[in-house]
Amino acid sequence: KKLRVGLLFGGRSGEHEVSIRSAGAIAQALRHTDNTARYEVLPVYIQKNGIWQTGDAAARVLAAGIAPTNETEGSLWEFPSDCRAIDVWFPILHGPNGEDGTVQGLLSLMQLPHVGSGVLGSAAGMDKLAMKSIFAAAGLAQVQYRGVTRSQVCFNSQALPQVCSDIESALGYPCFVKPANLGSSVGISKVRSRAELTMALDHAASFDRRIIIEAAVPTPREIECAVLGNEEPQTSCVGEISFDSDFYDYATKYIPGRADLQIPAQLPESAILRVRALALQAFEALDLAGLARVDFFYCEATDEVLINEVNSLPGFTATSMYPLLWEASGLPFPQLVDRLVQLALERG
Ligand code: ATP
Ligand code: MG
Ligand code: MG
Ligand code: MG
Repeated sequence: KKLRVGLLFGGRSGEHEVSIRSAGAIAQALRHTDNTARYEVLPVYIQKNGIWQTGDAAARVLAAGIAPTNETEGSLWEFPSDCRAIDVWFPILHGPNGEDGTVQGLLSLMQLPHVGSGVLGSAAGMDKLAMKSIFAAAGLAQVQYRGVTRSQVCFNSQALPQVCSDIESALGYPCFVKPANLGSSVGISKVRSRAELTMALDHAASFDRRIIIEAAVPTPREIECAVLGNEEPQTSCVGEISFDSDFYDYATKYIPGRADLQIPAQLPESAILRVRALALQAFEALDLAGLARVDFFYCEATDEVLINEVNSLPGFTATSMYPLLWEASGLPFPQLVDRLVQLALERG
């Protein structure tokens, strides 16, 4: 009997469209000749308004690769009854309400196995302030940073001037201002002055209650490593992203042709070894499971590797770094997806 895989995609975050394309690629892999005898795909689409769709409606979105222009209205608490047939869940949602432990908690309550990290790993990996304090406790080298809350930085805040001078003396300019829980560079600014800093804090506060400010790494090389496994995770070869823009912003990520991937990255062998070891340490420190993409900055001048972040449900399209790193490491896309489902079942 075929295993029924609930492919959960879409979601309420700014990364909705990426999720649809990731899910399309995963569905294709589950239906690949190597896998089709074992898996049946049940697409489950979370609309931008949060309403869940199954059956033909979800299959149509998956096939089209883009969100429908008209969303169905409904009650958030009417859980589609055909979800009861699902044996294992494959959530491929990016960002808040998907990659952050919320959905993982719901699936755990259903007492069904799911691909990827549980509640703790997902939440700790999504919140950049929590993530960085766990990295610090694990002794992983990273940039200096500060955390502030929305109420400290909104335009009528009495505390704003003091918050800004604290940031200036601790981190200097340029620095990066980010919503703590997000992805795809949404809400992120690189700032060079007090005026830009206050604008950027206000902008980040429109996305999240929690905001992180980081010292900027000067001319970093952007290095990524894929991790796969549960108790004895493995690392892929290491990849690099290059581009002409000021930093790896939303447009550079999603407008085709703006960024180039080099797999494997042309780095000194010792730096590659450090990247792979650090990726495993980060995976374990955050209690991640199944998969994660661990991202680094490499400073050529000092031969330093700094950890930037993890993504517990990384982009998974046919041209995304995570599956490409595994392909280059000898694990083709259909086998990678099969392995992820098996890891979910092993973890239970
Ligand atoms: P993802 O889409 O990978 O989830 P994200 O939205 O979580 O990304 P970050 O990876 O934190 O965002 O930052 C996005 C980009 O901004 C980085 O890839 C890098 O180009 C730039 N950047 C972020 N922080 C720094 C820093 N401290 N120093 C230099 N560049 C930075
Ligand atoms: Mg991220
Ligand atoms: Mg992300
Ligand atoms: Mg990133």
